[in-house]
Amino acid sequence: MEEIQIVFPDQERCSFPSATPAVQALAAWQKSSLKGSVAARLNGELIDLARPLSSGGELVPVTGNTPEGLDILRHSTSHLMAQAVKELFPEAKPAIGPAIEQGFYYDFETKAPFVPEDLARIEERMQVLSRAKIPITREEMSREEAIAFFKSRGEPYKVELLQALEEAPVSLYRQGDFVDLCRGPHLSSSGDIRFFKLTQVAGAYWRGDERNPMLQRIYGTAFFSKKELDEHLHRLEEAKRRDHRRLGRELDLFSIHDEVGPGLVIYHPKGALLRHILEDFEKKEHLKRGYELVVGPQILRTDLWKKSGHYENYRDFMYFTEIDGQSYGIKPMNCLSHMMIYKTKIRSYRDLPKRYFELGTVHRHEKSGVLHGLMRVRQFTQDDAHIICTPEQLQDEIRGVLNFVAEVMQIFGFPFEVEVSTRPEKSIGTDLDWERATAALTQALKDNGLDYSVSTGEGAFYGPKIDIKLKDALDRRWQCATIQCDFTLPERFDLTYIGPDGERHRPVMLHRVILGAIERFLGVLIEHYGGAFPVWLAPVQAIVLSVTDRSIDYSREVYQELLKAGVRSELDIRNEKLGLKVREAQLQKIPYMVVIGDKEAELKTVSPRTRSGQNLGAMDLAGFIQRIQAESIPGFKE
Ligand SMILES: [Zn+2]
Ligand SMILES: [Zn+2]
Repeated sequence: MEEIQIVFPDQERCSFPSATPAVQALAAWQKSSLKGSVAARLNGELIDLARPLSSGGELVPVTGNTPEGLDILRHSTSHLMAQAVKELFPEAKPAIGPAIEQGFYYDFETKAPFVPEDLARIEERMQVLSRAKIPITREEMSREEAIAFFKSRGEPYKVELLQALEEAPVSLYRQGDFVDLCRGPHLSSSGDIRFFKLTQVAGAYWRGDERNPMLQRIYGTAFFSKKELDEHLHRLEEAKRRDHRRLGRELDLFSIHDEVGPGLVIYHPKGALLRHILEDFEKKEHLKRGYELVVGPQILRTDLWKKSGHYENYRDFMYFTEIDGQSYGIKPMNCLSHMMIYKTKIRSYRDLPKRYFELGTVHRHEKSGVLHGLMRVRQFTQDDAHIICTPEQLQDEIRGVLNFVAEVMQIFGFPFEVEVSTRPEKSIGTDLDWERATAALTQALKDNGLDYSVSTGEGAFYGPKIDIKLKDALDRRWQCATIQCDFTLPERFDLTYIGPDGERHRPVMLHRVILGAIERFLGVLIEHYGGAFPVWLAPVQAIVLSVTDRSIDYSREVYQELLKAGVRSELDIRNEKLGLKVREAQLQKIPYMVVIGDKEAELKTVSPRTRSGQNLGAMDLAGFIQRIQAESIPGFKE
């Protein structure tokens, strides 16, 4: 019999008869047990534990506590769900069912949409199938055979998927009567899938295209332990409770109307105030760091967008309008005006760097399917700046932006992660440009002592970039800052500066945002704080509550004094019970409630309470104002 040579992670080498299952080889190596292994990697390729080893090479076990291991569990759970769906709804036609970041989904064409009761039934059936410990096995067929097979089972989506595949054997996975077209790998038995939950159902177009049939997508998640599943479900509950769309309505911050247009946000007074506080903060922080505030127009001639390359590369996301026979593009980015400012003068190396900052409102035509509250919209405002500098200054400028990001994230209390994206296959600029810019980005990260991951080939076609993702209170990642090197625009717009040698040179340009889109950042803040903003951010910091009609006059007086002192305040002098007024203010998550009764009116004092129910006792108004002003400093922790 033919022998194959296997190398294990500790470099131990063994030979086995050809076609030995991976699990046996691993067991021989680890002797004691294979605890925690869910699959294996042979020369880098993920395979089932049961897969017969057809060739030698490096064999590594994949355990459940790795991201790949969890993906395999979740993908296997999607198959289990599809099996349950087919048993309960034989007419359902399965489409695709991948593992995703928080779990998995599977799409089905069905006669009627699934309802929540269906999910409960499907979950129950999955439990039955799990307890039955059904083996999950792999088989191969030619593509033609597989097409005939799925046609005979009335599964057109599988047939369509197969028709798009190359002419080669394909793999199928079988568990009981359920068979799926799948690359695998999978767990060995349905009995290994125990801790799962179906979380929601939504409509989804086949292949994400609205011209295709609408399918039913069931989402779920799975873990290797009950504890992890419970923690995850708790986080989901919490996320639901904090959903910014719901809080946006309850706290009267913003609304989005179909009659106005999808993805277009209307800010109500408190939302607009919240936004103003954030923008004011941003302007001050930028001015402190040597940025100059600029403002460009909303529409610019289409010819200019052609010159910049946006028309060619970005047209599908842009809105256009025509006036006096002239075509204009509504800006999707703020770069062009900033370059026009630069070009109005001859610049010397002594003038550089120029740092132009704009709270730039842009329009991008996102597909309606991806729009989501404030997180994905069609009109948004970026805290956008363009730094134009000499190549020698590039690294210092990047370091400066990284410090800026770190300081701002510290103020909000967000930890963050950093990723560098390098040159993609399709790109412009010389090798030297790319090397220099990528080295400047990574060196600046090293100088600032920041850990980062590298996303090879994920840079924009015009330059490498740094992406920064913040982590919120529910441990979710949100893209905020980006720092992007650009070789094309200075070239296309012929930006120059006079160097020490008296010659004209090409400057480098950085596009950068710190918070990103203000809309999304607000959405993140609403969910992160659960609507209970710290005093410095709260659109309403204090509400004055009269206890009886006798204290109305003094209540008004206190309210006016608070406003005069710059404290964002409201006044509630309705003829309602104090208990009700306090409860309503608590629901509005207002940091301070200033209760004014007879005693306060007589002694000219105030008795503030916090939204958490703490009673601060009577104090004079000046003392209370001082307290709020101290807490209004950005980043103040209560
Ligand atoms: Zn599959
Ligand atoms: Zn830009």
